[in-house]
Amino acid sequence: MDYLFTLLILMVAVTTVVILAKRIASHTFKCKNCSEEFNISWTKVIVTEHSDNEYMLVCPCCKTKGWCTEQLTK
Ligand SMILES: [Zn+2]
Repeated sequence: MDYLFTLLILMVAVTTVVILAKRIASHTFKCKNCSEEFNISWTKVIVTEHSDNEYMLVCPCCKTKGWCTEQLTK
């Protein structure tokens, strides 16, 4: 029964992470180099290095890798 409980906790945790990642992915990210705004997939949100609302991304416009700011308002 301990095994099932651990599995349940794990599923809840994974679901929470996916919901949060999808919410973040619905926002756009702004490149500091060329000011282009772009979207990324929720799976990329999970694997991308970030601190607060800054994400280490490669800009699809100028191909520069750098900290891109998550745009909280449209
Ligand atoms: Zn750019």
